[in-house]
Amino acid sequence: MQTVAYAVAASSQSVEAPAQDSLRSALAAQRHAFNLAPFPDLAHRKADLDRLEKVLVSHSAEIVSALSQDFGGRSEQEAVLSEVIVTLNNLRYTRRRLGRWMKPRKRHVPLELGSGRAYVLPQPLGIVGIVSPWNFPVQLSLVPLIGALAAGNRAMIKPSELSPLTSDVIRKLVAEAFPPEQVVVCPGDVDVARTFVALPFDHLVYTGSTDVGRHVMRVAADNLVPVTLELGGKSPALVAPDAVVLEAAKDIVFGKLLNAGQICISPDYALVPRALVKEFARACQQVAQQMFPEGTASGDYTSIINQRHLGRLESYLSAARASGTEIVSLFAADKISPVSRKLAPVLAIDPADDSALMQNEVFGPILSIKPYDSLDDAIAFINSRPRPLALYLFTRSSATIDRVMKRTVCGSVSINDTLVHCAVEDLPFGGVGASGMGHYHGPEGFETLSKMKPIFHRKGFRTDRFARPPFTTFKKWLISRLI
Ligand code: NAD
Repeated sequence: MQTVAYAVAASSQSVEAPAQDSLRSALAAQRHAFNLAPFPDLAHRKADLDRLEKVLVSHSAEIVSALSQDFGGRSEQEAVLSEVIVTLNNLRYTRRRLGRWMKPRKRHVPLELGSGRAYVLPQPLGIVGIVSPWNFPVQLSLVPLIGALAAGNRAMIKPSELSPLTSDVIRKLVAEAFPPEQVVVCPGDVDVARTFVALPFDHLVYTGSTDVGRHVMRVAADNLVPVTLELGGKSPALVAPDAVVLEAAKDIVFGKLLNAGQICISPDYALVPRALVKEFARACQQVAQQMFPEGTASGDYTSIINQRHLGRLESYLSAARASGTEIVSLFAADKISPVSRKLAPVLAIDPADDSALMQNEVFGPILSIKPYDSLDDAIAFINSRPRPLALYLFTRSSATIDRVMKRTVCGSVSINDTLVHCAVEDLPFGGVGASGMGHYHGPEGFETLSKMKPIFHRKGFRTDRFARPPFTTFKKWLISRLI
């Protein structure tokens, strides 16, 4: 079905770059098709989602196996939950709500404007470009696609070159469900990505690092392409003085070790009351060892995506050790063996604020613990740094919740848990400041990828024409009454 010549050489993990012309002609074909059918009805959009659901289910085993090969070891159950089930949940939720979202929304017309009807019509934008990263390549390609199709758009997807086998499965399943003039996957390296983001899409959804996001926004600006930027950053977990330490450790360690910390909303560091640091560290060890009794040998513990990222994480740790930061292993010493690219999880106790660990997004199984003396200090620490994608708060006090929610700005929040807000489909998802802009998921996501077209329809008795020249004395008097 796919006519555009994109191919992934699976064995070498290299990617054959499509010519710039192929990308442009793929976009031209989609635009032509869109112009012929610019407003797919509800039945059509639901049928699109049905087809996507079918291929996602039928390729799920292939997805899990490709992910495991790309990572050199990725937890099967985590892959099913976070890639297949989360995506299916989003699709089914969207399909259920779609009829309601597509309805025109009635708006108020002020009396002085005379009779008529005002409404907002959600209209497809056209062609949506989607760029996705390697950490959840399926979810982060297909959830934006679900939003694009639900809003009646066509889409081109550029998946990451660092997960080539999974990108190839995505390409295959999309080609099975859709003709290329509706949805096309364009794998390729960074050069392809650069060409891709320079295309004159009607909207671009970019998920990736903050640095590349800056570049993407600059390039998109040349075509005035609106962007949704889903970026990274350092998401804090704030353990309040009244938190139950073991319960907080259970959720923070879970959030940190899922996908070996290679998650945009992974808790990056924990702010812990100074007096509770030791208890918290012990609780984290206990929880990690219960979750992964085999340590690095556990099939549920995921590898680091490649040698470059492993080297990056190891360099953060050696710099921390060299500067005297205490590093505490979460696994017992006899449960750490050199398996594939698995990096045994650790805590870094109070690394310096200017250390690599505290300056960069960790994106791996290292949790820094920053002790604090008062809740105000902890809030000030968060506010002194770029705005995070997620914030986690552990507390039993509603006054603390109110205080932290109103005094910090971040992409999204889970209270007394980590990561889960992202799976609540009815909540929008997106960063703020350095962690991104715009939303997808939920009704906000549908609106992001629609033109919410305001329409005024004049009908009924035309009292409004009194406000046109010639302005007689009577009309002047009427106008003066409007002030
Ligand atoms: P990345 O920015 O290196 O790459 C992401 C995508 O961008 C890839 O498809 C890549 O080919 C493309 N790309 C790379 N260089 C480009 C360029 N110069 N121009 C255009 N496109 C380019 O990110 P990554 O390493 O794949 O992913 C990890 C980052 O993504 C982390 O920072 C993480 O926090 C972030 N992330 C954010 C979310 C979110 O929802 N906010 C989700 C997952 C990952």
